[in-house]
Formats: sequence, structure tokens, C-alpha cells
Amino acid sequence: MPPKRKGKKPIKSDVTPEARKEAAGHKDLGNKDFVAGNYDDAAKHFSAAIEADPTDHIFYSNRSACYASVGKLSAAVSDAERCIELKPEWGKGYSRLGTALFKRNDLDGAQKAFAGGLAVDPNNVQCDDGLAEVKAAKAKREKLAADRAAADLEHMSMDPTDRYVIGIDLGTTYSCVSVWKDGEAQVLANSEGDRTTPSWVAFTDDGRVVGDAAKRQAAQNTKRTLFNVKRIIGRQFSECGEELKLFPFTVKEGDGGKPLIEVEVDEEMKTFTPEQISAMVLEKMKKTAEVALGCPIKKAVITVPAYFNDAQRRQTKDAGAIAGLDVLRIINEPTAAALAYGLDKNNTEGGEGEGGKPKEQTILVFDLGGGTFDVSLLKIEDGVFTVLATAGDTHLGGEDFDSALAEDVAAQHKKKAGADIFTGDDKAQRKLRTACERAKRMLSSSTGATVECFVGEHEIAMPYTRARFEKVCEPLFQRCVDSVKRVLADASIKKEAVDEIVLVGGSTRVPRVQQILSDFFDGKSLCKSVHPDEAVAFGAAVQGAILSGARDAATSNLLLVDVIPLSLGVECEGKQFAKVVPRNTPVPCKKKSEFTTVYDYQDEIDVRIFEGERSNCDGNHLLGEFQITGVERAKKGEPKIDVQFEVNTNGLLTVTARDRETGANAEVKLQHDRGRLSPEEIQRMCAEAEAMRAEDERAEREFEAAMERGEM
Ligand code: AMP
Repeated sequence: MPPKRKGKKPIKSDVTPEARKEAAGHKDLGNKDFVAGNYDDAAKHFSAAIEADPTDHIFYSNRSACYASVGKLSAAVSDAERCIELKPEWGKGYSRLGTALFKRNDLDGAQKAFAGGLAVDPNNVQCDDGLAEVKAAKAKREKLAADRAAADLEHMSMDPTDRYVIGIDLGTTYSCVSVWKDGEAQVLANSEGDRTTPSWVAFTDDGRVVGDAAKRQAAQNTKRTLFNVKRIIGRQFSECGEELKLFPFTVKEGDGGKPLIEVEVDEEMKTFTPEQISAMVLEKMKKTAEVALGCPIKKAVITVPAYFNDAQRRQTKDAGAIAGLDVLRIINEPTAAALAYGLDKNNTEGGEGEGGKPKEQTILVFDLGGGTFDVSLLKIEDGVFTVLATAGDTHLGGEDFDSALAEDVAAQHKKKAGADIFTGDDKAQRKLRTACERAKRMLSSSTGATVECFVGEHEIAMPYTRARFEKVCEPLFQRCVDSVKRVLADASIKKEAVDEIVLVGGSTRVPRVQQILSDFFDGKSLCKSVHPDEAVAFGAAVQGAILSGARDAATSNLLLVDVIPLSLGVECEGKQFAKVVPRNTPVPCKKKSEFTTVYDYQDEIDVRIFEGERSNCDGNHLLGEFQITGVERAKKGEPKIDVQFEVNTNGLLTVTARDRETGANAEVKLQHDRGRLSPEEIQRMCAEAEAMRAEDERAEREFEAAMERGEM
């Protein structure tokens, strides 16, 4: 009697001739699909072949090749191992294993597998080639590691003040600071122990306070508590109408149409520019980093919404300068978030994730914060980030949800109590908004919450359901989808082609926002691997590390390519907008266009620079203007004037114009002073900020002491 086989593995004789025939049929189909590049279908046929006949090593070998081709590396490895188990003397099984391990970045394992193949089959060409490839990759890796170690040593020996480049997410509602330290981006907690700081500044009778201290005393000091200043930075007073309606503090029109914030300080009315107030928030972030790192900090990367125009970027940079920071780079918030996401992916490369990491990914960064909404499409390929398109809404965010909720609660209260206790009362409205924000956050994790606050002798305690919140905010939520559609259309990318949807910004915690987004992408799951509140600062710190020369294994593979968010061009006859740089052009960029005169012997041309997407300049945003004199005196249309737009890596713009005929004397640089601070003004403000610093620190200490005593 022959022995009975132990265990479950069938031996060849267990497989019937019919099953073997069926398996051979599947194998043929699988081979055809493989040759046609349909690896998933091919894998299915080989699986069916294995099902019919689990004893044939070739089926495992072929399926391993399919899995390796689509990046399912764990499966490719285990099929190759099974193949070797079934046919240890067959060299190809080892070459399959070596290939899968090599793709998984396991160079030692791959080397062992190829060497094993050559031991059983010394003439195996695939194993021979594979071994040579592994050895070359190992040598390259070792050289890179040695270079990095040398660079790291140099970097570590730098003065910490020069070494650390902090990344600041200067948010509309909250700000966050991070730094690259010990090989990773670390978010730094402020003196209150919080990892994000409200972007609020208050002038109290005891001095100036910034952050949580400012926010907490807001209801008692509405006229002198400043917030949401990011909404007006870099803008003209005339453009700020909507925002100003929501500000309980005073904003006036200053020189050149700039908004100026008026506040009573030490019983005297003082005015501040938006960049001065933003500088106070930045200074708090700088100080947070200095305390955490134990050294003065001078350099920073600051993030701005992708939709910020040139003036908004410049003024953010100016705010950094006033705060005593050398702003090395201004980067877009979603791009920073993508960097955080990319780093996360980089770190897990070669890990156990089924399917491994595809070579190229299209990701959509959906960043819904407190005041702004940005959506960007990016391509990540071999560590290179390219922003394909950006869109968004500068007037959409969690604050709008708070407003909608507050309006509804106030209306319901009026109906019930018969009296309107909120209209015209800034203090009452501030209390209500704070209560609504609290309830809104609760509604992200539970289906009911209570809006609770005291207004004078009135106690509000209104139960509120998530369903009602969703109904009240639905039009706002739907607006998010409009921007998503736009960004896809701009990049000519179908929604099916988006590999990952990365959620950033505190307001992406709202379940309905997630649901609408997932529904739009036909039920696709959303990526929440990056921290919604910290990802932007995290990415800014990664960019800071790259700029500071911290050549870490993780960061040194990352490179950033940004795009300009709005088309740039020149006003022509009849207010027509002539685009010179179309939106979504990668930066840095330099583009030239030819212009001419509109009447005979015209020797001067006024060049008005606009950004926007409208064909008529009235609908676009004026960035600046200048005049070229000394243009060739000729019949209209004959002179040739080259106007060149140059956008540098910070997204900042320089425009020059040159008459081709008359040459040198016609070249003009754009005097871009509209809404822009002069170096003298920045210097003056720096001095002022410096002078106020000691006084502020004292005030902050007193404020904190009063808080602890429960007097606030
Ligand atoms: P950010 O500008 O990214 O810091 O986002 C701040 C916004 O996120 C604010 O409007 C917050 O009210 C909002 N937010 C934070 N946490 C939550 C939450 N759990 N649910 C809903 N909104 C939130």
C-alpha cells in the first residue's frame, strides 16, 4: 500500500487529467493577457489555473510576475517562494523572487535570491543580470548614505540659528509651527501646551496678548480683539466689504486704499496694517519655536492659500520680516500638505502595504480650514511634486459654518423668546459664535450637541442635531464640490484618475463634507493619514529642511514644483486683458509677449498689470502699473515692445518691458508698490515691534497670572 500524504498540499498524482487540462487553458489565457499588459486579468487566470492544479510551479511563477508588475509585492514574493518550494532546482523561481524583493527595496534579500538561482542554474541569465543590478543599486545606496552622512555632519555643525528653518502655517483661524529636527518634522507646542495657536491678537488694558489668551477674552473686549486678519491682508479696502461686515473691530481706508485696523491702545487710537497684526501672530510662533529649540530663530518658510495673489504673498512675506524672520520661501498650503503626505508615503515605501507604491500618483488635496478653501491636484512621481492645477474659494471655511449656525440659533431663539438679543450686540454675537463653534466640533463626533452660552441675564441652552447643522450648511458644503470639479477640468483629469484624496484643514472633520466628497468620487475612501491641523506646517518644515540643507534620506528625494494660481497679463486697448502667463504655469517661470502702440508716433505706453481670468480687465485684479517712455516714434502698430513676466519660487512677480528697436533705454522694472510696504516702512515696523516686545512679554505674563487666579 503506498503511503498517504500528510497535510493538505496535493501532489501531482492528486490532480486529475481534466483539472490539469483546465489549468493549462487558464494558463494560456493568462499568458495572452500578460503579453497584452493586462496584468490584473492575467493574475486572475493564473489564480484559476492554481485552483484547478495547485502543483504546477509555473502558475505561481507567472502569477508572481503579474503581481510584481502591478506593485502587489507581498503577493509576488509569496508566489515566488511557493514556486521555489515546488521546484527548488528551477532557476527562474529564484529570479522571480529576486525581482519582487528588489522592487520592494529589499536589496539583501534580492541578492540572496539571485545568488540562490545561480547556485542551482549557473547559466541563468535573469539571475545573472538581477545580481548585477542589485550590486549596482547597493553601491549607489552606499555612496548616497556616505554623502548624506557627510552633509548631515556639516549641517549639524552649523549654528542652530542658521540650521533651523521653521515652517509656519499662518492660518486664518489657527496657526501652527513645525521644524525639522532629529530626522523628522516636529510640530512645536506653544507656552499653553497647544500645538495650534489661534491667530488672534488683543489689546487689553494690561497690554497686548496673542493666541489663546486673546481669543478667550474676546467677548469682554470685542473692539480691541483682532482676528481673521488674513482675510484682508494684501487686499484693497474697497475689496474687503464682506469681511468687514463680520469684524466687530474698526477697519478704515488708509493711504493707497489699504485697509487699516484702528484700535485703542493706552487710551489712544492707533492704526495697524494687516501685516503688522499678522506679524504679531508670527512673532508668537517664532517665540514658540525659540522656547522649544532653545535658540534664537531667524529663518522661516510660511504658507499661504494657493489662491493668494501677488500682493497677498508679498504682504505675508513683509509680515514675516516685521516679526524678525527671514522668509526663505512662501509656499502654497496644499502643496505643503502634499509634501507631508509624500513624506509619509516615502517613509512607508517598502513597507507591508499591499500593492506597494505605484510609481506615479495623482493626488487631490482638499484643504478646508477656518476661513479659506483650497483644492489642488498634484502629481507625485519619484519624489517630484508637480502642482497640476489649483482652485478654491477665499470665502469658505469653518467660520462660515459657525456663522450659518449662529444665524439659525439666533433666529430660533428670537422665535422662542420673542426678543432679538443678538443683533447689534457685538459681545453677544461673539459669545454665540464661540458656543456655535464648540457645538459644531461636537457634531463631528456625535449626532447631537447643545449650543450653550450666557448673554446678559439670558441663558441659551439650545439642543442642536447634526441633521439640522447639515441642512443649514448644505449650500456651503456643496460649494466645495464646485471647486473640485473646476480643478479637475482645469487639469483635464477625470475623477477616476485621482489616486488619493488627502484631507487637510480642521473643517474636513465635518462628516457631511467627507460624505459629499466621497460621493462625488463614487464612494472612494478618503486619505486621512496626514494630521488635518498640522499637515501644512509639517510640509513647510520639510521644505525648510530642504532649504537649510538638511539632507535627510526622507527629504532629499522631495522636490517641489508649484504653479501660479491666476493668469497674469497686461491691459490692452478697450480694457481687454492680454494674458502673458496663463494660470497653472509651473513656477519659477519667465514669459514674454510682444505689444505695440495704438496711435502714430506714440512714444509712451502705460502698462497696467492684472491678474485674473476675465477677458475684460474690469473683472480682474490690478497688481500694478508703470510707464515706458522712449518708445520708437513710428506709425501705430510698428514698434515692438517685449513685456516679460518673471515669477520666482516664492510666487513673487517682476515685470519688465523693453523696446526692441530703441533697446536699453526702454527697459522698465515694475514699480509694484500698490499695497506693498517699502523697505523703510518694514524697517520702521520692525523697530516698532522690537520696541513693543518687552512690554508685550510683561503684559502676557500678567495676563497668564490673572488667568491662573481666575480673574479672566
Ligand atoms: P484650520 O484653519 O485648518 O486650523 O481649521 C480651523 C477650522 O476647523 C475652524 O473653523 C474649526 O472650527 C474647524 N474645526 C476644528 N475641529 C473641528 C471638528 N472636530 N469639527 C468641525 N470643525 C472643526
